[in-house]
Amino acid sequence: MSDKKMQVVFASAEAAPFVKTGGLGDVAGSLPRALVAAGADVIVMVPKYGTIASEYTDRMEHVADFYVSLGWRNEYCGLERLVIDGVTYLFIDNERYFKRDYPYGFFDDGERFAFFSKAVTESLQHLPEGFQCDVLHCNDWHTALAPVFLREFYQGLPLYERVKTVFSIHNIAFQGQYADTILNDILGMAHIPNAARQLRCDERSINYMQGALDYSDAITTVSPSYAWEIQTPEYGEGLDGILRRRSNVLSGILNGIDTDAWNPATDPMIHANYSATDMSGKKACKAALQEELGLEVRDDRPLMVMVTRLTRQKGMDLVTYALDRILSGGVQVAVLGTGDYEEPMRYFANQYPGTCAARITFDNALSHRMYAGADMFLMPSLFEPCGLSQMIAMRYGTLPVVRETGGLRDTVAPYNQFTGEGTGFTFANFNGDEMGDAVFRGARLYWDDHAAWDQLAQNAMAADFSWVRSADEYMNLYHNLHPEIDITKPEPVVQEPEPAEPVAVEAEPAAAPAPEPVVTEAEPAPKTEQAAEPADDAKAEAPAKAEEPAPKAEPAKKTAAKKTTASKTAAKKPAARKTAATKSTATKAAEKPAAKATATKPAASKAAATKTTAAKATATKTTTKATASKATAAKTTAKKPSTASATKTATKSTTTKAAPAKAAAAKTAADKPATAAATAPKAAAAKTAPAKASTSKAATSSAAKATAKPAAPKATAAKAAAPKAAAQDSSAATPADKPAPKAKSVSAAKRTTRKR
Ligand code: ADP
Repeated sequence: MSDKKMQVVFASAEAAPFVKTGGLGDVAGSLPRALVAAGADVIVMVPKYGTIASEYTDRMEHVADFYVSLGWRNEYCGLERLVIDGVTYLFIDNERYFKRDYPYGFFDDGERFAFFSKAVTESLQHLPEGFQCDVLHCNDWHTALAPVFLREFYQGLPLYERVKTVFSIHNIAFQGQYADTILNDILGMAHIPNAARQLRCDERSINYMQGALDYSDAITTVSPSYAWEIQTPEYGEGLDGILRRRSNVLSGILNGIDTDAWNPATDPMIHANYSATDMSGKKACKAALQEELGLEVRDDRPLMVMVTRLTRQKGMDLVTYALDRILSGGVQVAVLGTGDYEEPMRYFANQYPGTCAARITFDNALSHRMYAGADMFLMPSLFEPCGLSQMIAMRYGTLPVVRETGGLRDTVAPYNQFTGEGTGFTFANFNGDEMGDAVFRGARLYWDDHAAWDQLAQNAMAADFSWVRSADEYMNLYHNLHPEIDITKPEPVVQEPEPAEPVAVEAEPAAAPAPEPVVTEAEPAPKTEQAAEPADDAKAEAPAKAEEPAPKAEPAKKTAAKKTTASKTAAKKPAARKTAATKSTATKAAEKPAAKATATKPAASKAAATKTTAAKATATKTTTKATASKATAAKTTAKKPSTASATKTATKSTTTKAAPAKAAAAKTAADKPATAAATAPKAAAAKTAPAKASTSKAATSSAAKATAKPAAPKATAAKAAAPKAAAQDSSAATPADKPAPKAKSVSAAKRTTRKR
């Protein structure tokens, strides 16, 4: 035990607000701040892109510069510092690599991010005074080589001996796979057998992420379920074998959201503010949104939205398959996004004016209005490492309809009609009919039972998705790597106010006002009106009828116990050292209506709180304590003669496009019988008993190790998708079915659908 704080260097290819193309940017923009609040010293390293706004670059202070060896090259690296909210940002400056108008997508990305990784590693020698790196936390493939370089080139230096490495997978579909020529030409590691072997993924390729998985002391991903899923061939994208082998150091830590930026009570971008205790503003938001999008302004129509990349990963195949049924069934749908499925979305908007709207653009302000104005949020992802949108939606009292995969499964508790518990509606298999059923389970509840609906909204808004919870889990992880560093939060200090004790009586009144009971405020109002509403609508009538079987669920409203979500989760929490248990919430865990039987559900996602026995864990580690950096730099330079050009890493990935999917989708839409309908909530009755204790964890890694159970069972999920057969016309529903799993190389399709 010492007074030393946990000092963490957090390396990421993007970090909001400087540069962001997706969830990684959000995480790198928020987590470091939360870690600082949790008691750590944090330095975030990001490339100094040419696109970073001058309001930031103007304030950067040059603190160091040096050269970084990269194969035969010797590249300039500047360090520019900026401090915001207690977090120190060090921007890696090299204009040749980073002064471009976009972060990724260049022919030399392999070289650019090999440089970034090497520069990060080298930079540990140039940190501000007093900062001694305990943990180097790398994120995604762009920084995956840092743990490799660190062990192979820097391990011998005292400064590096104490550095433990953590690698976080934000999306395993992007791995950084390149022709193996760069092993020598750029990485300068061809002569290191262990490195060459551990980086190689086939006869001609090396894989950056694979290297990180072998070399890092601890591995995390962004949700417990995804931690389990990626150990299966179905989701592992060829890396499942390594992940199973290293499962003792693998854990899933759920992302959080910026609860200040996403707060319906204060959000300046929405039509009217509201909170869990006064939801009236939400109705106003809905009417305003319907108006803005050209939808019929009526409250008796549930409004379901999507704010997303229009890609296969996000379940757009299912959406295009089921949209006719959903729209003709009386549910309004609005989509905000860009991507491969823009045309199908325009098609539906044209086909169903007043009921369907599509905004093909990226519009942050509109996204706020959509989260606030909607009743439901659709997110039927094929795979979802964590997902932020569903959490944002819940924060706005908008109930998510999600597929039970990855972070969606961990954050959305399915509605239980018997207990009233839940925060949304879920389905298991990647199947358009199942998705449609889930949508109508939601719609039916919206129409038939306002009290139960309102209770669900309360549950959703009460869920804790703040970064505090996640930061604590990361701190525990760091502590496991450096047990000698005390990470006890300075929280106890907060208790000081209590001593301001005197009047014990004062406390009493305080307790009284504690308006806990507020809970039911919203419930009473609507009630009866509802029943009538759906009926009055001729158009809605037909489908509504077909859906009738939806069970009534009267008991639900009685039980409805507000805190639900919170309580549920406890079980699955890792053995977090100190705090943990308390703020659990969010993750639903334990109880899932057995709906559909599950296939996808991991029986017991280990993921566990890797009590990494740090150092030892690095089984793979080689001992090649290759000399010190500086020396190597010069050395290698001289050694490698050849050409500059030869380098151009043949990015052996890309190519494919989802074009066919697009076409198919449009086609499907076209030949679908307009009425389709027949919603038959078959699933409704099925759901019930809480099943599985899914994501529980094994506290300590040692135990987990032996377990290695992963892959086997549930993998079947998608396969079982077929059943619905009956109504299922053609292939529409199936095509998407599987994440073109297969091993070895990353599925090109997925890679290309994402910007990075
Ligand atoms: P991803 O896989 O794209 O990172 P997430 O759900 O984790 O998905 O995060 C997506 C984030 O991007 C959310 O904050 C969402 O609101 C935002 N977003 C996605 N598409 C759009 C869009 N077209 N306009 C505005 N915001 C968007």
